[in-house]
Amino acid sequence: MRKVYLDNNATTRMREEALEAMLPYYKEIYGNASSVHEFGRTARIAIDGARKKVADLLGTSSVEEVFFTSGGTEADNFAIKGVAHALKAKGDHIITSAIEHHAVLNTCKFLEKEGYKVTYVKVGKDALVDLDELKKAITPKTILITIMYANNEVGTIEPIEEIGKIAKEKGVYFHTDAVQAVAKLPFEARNLNVDLLSMSGHKIYGPKGIGALYIRKGTKITQLFHGGHHEMGKRAGTENVAGIVGLGKAAELARKELGEENRKLKELRDYLYKGIVSKIQDVRLNGHPEKRLPNTLNVGFKYLEGESIVLNLDMEGIAVSTGSACTSGSLEPSHVLTAMGVDPAETQGSIRFSLGRDNTKEDMDYVLGVLGPIIKRLREMSPLYDGRKQT
Ligand SMILES: *Cc1c(COP(=O)(O)O)cnc(C)c1O
Repeated sequence: MRKVYLDNNATTRMREEALEAMLPYYKEIYGNASSVHEFGRTARIAIDGARKKVADLLGTSSVEEVFFTSGGTEADNFAIKGVAHALKAKGDHIITSAIEHHAVLNTCKFLEKEGYKVTYVKVGKDALVDLDELKKAITPKTILITIMYANNEVGTIEPIEEIGKIAKEKGVYFHTDAVQAVAKLPFEARNLNVDLLSMSGHKIYGPKGIGALYIRKGTKITQLFHGGHHEMGKRAGTENVAGIVGLGKAAELARKELGEENRKLKELRDYLYKGIVSKIQDVRLNGHPEKRLPNTLNVGFKYLEGESIVLNLDMEGIAVSTGSACTSGSLEPSHVLTAMGVDPAETQGSIRFSLGRDNTKEDMDYVLGVLGPIIKRLREMSPLYDGRKQT
C-alpha cells in the first residue's frame, strides 16, 4: 500500500544527511566535550560548528546567543520559567495567548500555581492574536510576553515584529515559540525584537530530543538545570553531541533550501485544498487564508468526528491528525479551534494535513482519491448529517 505521511507538524523524518553526520559521534568520536584530551576536543569542535549553523539559521551573528536544549519543550520551559524566576523582584505578570502549544500553556499554568499572574490573550477567528488586547494587558508588573511565531494546528503566523515592538517600547521581555516557524519562514532573530526564541530539531528533519533556545545577549534568565558549567553556564548536563551535530546539519541544509522548499510545499498544499473543495461539500478552512505556514492545511469536515476520518485515512496508508499530537486521543476539542470561536460541532471534524519535503503531487492525488469516498461514507452514517445534501 502507498504510504503518505502528512503529519510533519507533529514530527518529520530525519534527513539522511543529518543521520550520516551523527553516526561518527556515536561510533568513534564519543568523547565528553568537556574533556581536555583529543576525544573531548574533537567533540567540542563539532558542537561549536553546529552552534554556528544554528545561529546562521536563526539569524544571529553571535554563537553566544544559542543554547542547546533537549528540544522545543525544554526551550519553552527554560525561557518562561527562567525569565519569571530571574525577574521575580520586578514583577509577577506574564502575557501569553490562548492558542499556544502545551509546552507554553502548561508552563504558564505551573507558574500560576507558584503565584505568578498570567493573561491569556484572545485570538480572532483566523487565530491572529488581538494586538489591542495585548497592549491593554501590559502593566508595570508585566515581565514577559510569550506568543508563538506560528501555530502548530492551523498554521497561522502571528505578527511577531509588531509584538516585539510593543514589548520593547514597554521594556518587557518577549519570548516566541518558533518551533513551527524555523526552517519554514525566513526571519532573522536579530531584526525581530525578540529576546528569546525556541526551536526543535525533529520539526526540521533533524533528530528528536534536541533543540535550542536563542537568548539575546544581556537577557536576565535563571537556569532550569543545575550542575556542571555546560552551555556557557546556562544549561547543565553533558552535551548530546550526536544530536547537536544532527541539528546543525539539518539547520545548515534548511537555510539553503528554505525558499525553494516553501514554494513547493505551498503549491502542493493549495493543490490539495482545491481538490478537496472541488470534491467535497461543507468544508471550511481553519486558520488565516494567507498568513499561514506554507505546509499547513487544517480543514473542517462538517457533521463528522475527526478521529474517525484519521482512522479511515490510516487504513489507506495516510497519516494526518486532528489538531496536535499532544491532545489527540483525549477527545477534548482543540483548544486552538475553540479559542478561534469555531462552532464546537465543527471543531470535531477538523483535520490537519501538514506536508513535508518528501511529499509529491502523486501523494496529493492519492489522498484526494480516497478522501472523497471516506467522507461520503462517514457522513451517510452520521446522525448529524442531513442526507439530502450530497458529498
Ligand atoms: C513540537 C512543538 C513543541 C515541542 O517541541 P519538542 O521538541 O517536541 O519538545 C513546542 N512548540 C510547538 C509549536 C511545537 O510544534
